[in-house]
Amino acid sequence: MLNKAIFLDRDGVINEVKTKRVKFVNKPEQFYFLEGVKEAVKILSEAGYKLFVVTNQGGVGLGYLSHEHLQTIHDYMVGELETAGGRIYEVSCCTHKPHAGCSCRKPEPGMIMGLSERYNLDLTASYMIGDREPDIEAGRKAGCKTILIADGSSPLYQADYVFPTLLAASQFLLSQ
Ligand SMILES: [Mg+2]
Ligand SMILES: [Zn+2]
Repeated sequence: MLNKAIFLDRDGVINEVKTKRVKFVNKPEQFYFLEGVKEAVKILSEAGYKLFVVTNQGGVGLGYLSHEHLQTIHDYMVGELETAGGRIYEVSCCTHKPHAGCSCRKPEPGMIMGLSERYNLDLTASYMIGDREPDIEAGRKAGCKTILIADGSSPLYQADYVFPTLLAASQFLLSQ
C-alpha cells in the first residue's frame, strides 16, 4: 500500500521571508510561521497525507549557516507544528552550494525521489507545494501534482493549482 504525500517548501510557504523583520532565517528567533500554517499542517495530517518539508538551504554550503543551526531551526519548526496537532515525517534539505550541480537542489527532484523510496509514496497522488518556480518544476519532474502559493501578481509557472495561502490549499485538498 502506497502512501500519499505532501511536500512543502519551507521559506515563503511555512515561514516568512523577505519581509522587513526577516531577511534570512539563521536561528529559531527569525522563524515566523505564516498565518494559518499550523492549522493547515494539522488539517493535512489528519486528512491522511504524510507531510515532508523539502528545502534548498544553500547558505549552509556557502558557509552562512552551520548544519547544527539549521537543525535547531528545523527542530523548532517541527516541534511547533506537532504541538499544533500536525506531523512532519522528515525535513529534507539540500545544503549544497547553489551551483554545485547536485541532484537534490530544487528544481531537481532528488529530495522528493529519495523520500518516495524511503516512505513508499505514490507520487501521482502526492502534491508539491511551493512559492517559486524551482518548487513547481521539482514537483513536476517527480511526477507529483503541483500547487503554487502566490498572490495574484505572481507568474504561475504552470502549476496545477494556485492558492494565496497554505491554509487555502489545505482546504481545497480536504475537498478532493
Ligand atoms: Mg520558498
Ligand atoms: Zn543538493
